[in-house]
Amino acid sequence: MPFGHDLCELRILNQYAMKSITRRKFVKASLTSSAALVVPLFVQADNLFPDEKTITPALQFTQLPLPYANNALEPSIDALTMEIHYGKHHSAYIKNVNDAIAAENISFASEKDFFSNTSKLSTKARNNGGGAWNHNFFWQVMKPGSSAPTGKVAEAINAAFGSTDKFKELFTQTAMTRFGSGWAWLVKDGNTLRVGSTPNQDNPLMDVSELKGTPLLALDVWEHAYYLKYQNKRNEYVANWWNVVNWDEVAKRLNS
Ligand code: MN
Repeated sequence: MPFGHDLCELRILNQYAMKSITRRKFVKASLTSSAALVVPLFVQADNLFPDEKTITPALQFTQLPLPYANNALEPSIDALTMEIHYGKHHSAYIKNVNDAIAAENISFASEKDFFSNTSKLSTKARNNGGGAWNHNFFWQVMKPGSSAPTGKVAEAINAAFGSTDKFKELFTQTAMTRFGSGWAWLVKDGNTLRVGSTPNQDNPLMDVSELKGTPLLALDVWEHAYYLKYQNKRNEYVANWWNVVNWDEVAKRLNS
């Protein structure tokens, strides 16, 4: 069997079986692999060396693709801000949280578990984990050309806040009064909706957050989100941001 073929088989083994395979077991598989051996190893990997400690790979955060072009949210959000925000700030949060996960041996099964255990994490993991998740969320809840909330979202907003205008007023005020860097949120909390804000890169999924619930909508009010275009005028940024809210994504999260 040519060596290159073995490597190919091992990559397949690696891809599908590493979730619960041990390092020593993988080395054994590497040393003894042949076409005949690789398949049984793949099928029975967990049972071959039951005395060895299983290594669960650490959670990894992934930067989701931007669902539109950098200039798609113009003029509310300019292309250069989007390019730097997504390409530099967000990608740095992703890299840094994954570095922290590796350095600190953080092993949670899901992002949800990561955030419900934030109180046990380092500041680096907390800040960058929040930054990684919050921005993935933020890109999804925007789109070019917003419309008004309809259907169940409109009903829920009316029930909680009186009207869409009153909701917008409260959300805007919350975004404006978040001192320094942070986020404004609309969350589902039990049977009702709530508006609130978090400092830094905290989010309502974190056990350390005062505001808790399922995030439906978020607005980044860090200066990096608006300063190039709006400078100190956060109020204009927030006012124009309503033109790019993706209410379909809000509805999806409300119904999930
Ligand atoms: Mn940001």
